[in-house]
Amino acid sequence: MSSETVLISGVGIAGPTLAFWLKRGGFEPTLLECAPELRSGGYVIDFWGLGYDIAEKMGLLDAIERVGYHMRELRIVDERGRRVAGLGTRVFSELTGGRFVTLGRSDLLRSLFHKVSGDSETLFGDEIVSLQERSNGVEVRFRNGNTRRFGLVIGADGLHSNVRRLMFGPQDRFERQLGYQVAAFEVKGYRPRDENVYVIYSQPGRMLGRFALHDDRTLFLFVFALDRSVLVLDAAAQKAILRERFGDGTWECQRILADLDRTESLYFDRVSQIKMEHWSSGRTALVGDAAFCVSLMAGQGSALAMTAAYVLAGELVRASGRHEEAFQKYETLLRGYIASKQKGAERFSSAFIPRTRWGLFLRNQVIKACAIPGLSRLAFGQDISDRLQLPDYHWP
Ligand SMILES: Cc1cc2nc3c(=O)[nH]c(=O)nc-3n(C[C@H](O)[C@H](O)[C@H](O)COP(=O)(O)OP(=O)(O)OC[C@H]3O[C@@H](n4cnc5c(N)ncnc54)[C@H](O)[C@@H]3O)c2cc1C
Repeated sequence: MSSETVLISGVGIAGPTLAFWLKRGGFEPTLLECAPELRSGGYVIDFWGLGYDIAEKMGLLDAIERVGYHMRELRIVDERGRRVAGLGTRVFSELTGGRFVTLGRSDLLRSLFHKVSGDSETLFGDEIVSLQERSNGVEVRFRNGNTRRFGLVIGADGLHSNVRRLMFGPQDRFERQLGYQVAAFEVKGYRPRDENVYVIYSQPGRMLGRFALHDDRTLFLFVFALDRSVLVLDAAAQKAILRERFGDGTWECQRILADLDRTESLYFDRVSQIKMEHWSSGRTALVGDAAFCVSLMAGQGSALAMTAAYVLAGELVRASGRHEEAFQKYETLLRGYIASKQKGAERFSSAFIPRTRWGLFLRNQVIKACAIPGLSRLAFGQDISDRLQLPDYHWP
């Protein structure tokens, strides 16, 4: 067994998954998160496929099913809340043999972190400011002034990865914006509630969705078209942008915008993919969104982040810590698979929010057509299937 130390930057979905499997393989992972505590709130994710399989291997299925939802319908409504089109979501469950659940990203994160928090060092409220590769490790300087040496450093720090910037260069070299901005927040006590139905109101170039969560909470998701976006970090400025974009909206837009004042935690970002030639350099590698963000359009980024974390840990264990060999195998195994998921997301993105009334009408007709038995299987079968066989690693 190797006792190599590994610093993992980012306690999101990939980070704790990687720490769990590295620990199983005899490594000593340290998790580092810039936020002062686990991130809460955010948005809901659909979860299936290889991510679901890995969650099962980690003994997490009961916990995930307990906090998850089995969605019945994706419902498009008009300005008076009347259903104009809809998609029964049972097809997803059928296509995955019932192994499909919708859950809060933060609920998945909490379950994953619970698996590692007892036996892996975790540092909150800090981040890496410099990385120096030495012959036997990487010297890491932290924002708090400390310096430590680790055998390997892994960037699991998401779309705006700090490790990627420090080791590979500025984000704009790797980022492909898909032309949308996304925001999400949740509040307690909102009415109406439509249990297990994702209700969506669309106008040309924008959509607003609502989903009823447990404990009388409701999640709202805003997506709007934007040709090129800048990163807005100030919460007041983010709220002002949403008010400006949705302020003239009908349906429940006014009430939802008024509820923006009740939230401290607003998720706000652009919709982008990350495409890189390599995911590693020397003793440093990237995993999850940091390496290959597929974007929300793929509906599978968390599962892919977990898959990549599992494969990376498995290859490091298999190569007995010979990191160059492991990093290369990790990329070889996953590159084609990830590229096909990114392509699928790009295809979906171009039709996601039509920018004209005619486009919206056509999209609604396509959704209606999916109610015809067999058609929805045909429409979603390819994108929902995972054409990757998870390697069977032998954990010590
Ligand atoms: C609206 C929306 C809907 C989505 N829907 C789905 C879906 O239906 N299904 C699905 O599977 N996926 C979905 N995704 C994608 C999914 O959430 C991501 O792909 C997934 O979270 C990626 O995991 P990650 O661990 O790579 O990164 P993240 O989950 O982004 O985690 C990165 C972590 O790194 C931390 N970090 C950032 N910078 C630093 C730093 N400098 N130092 C230390 N830590 C840092 C962050 O605080 C964060 O905790 C969706 C995404 C969005 C935005």
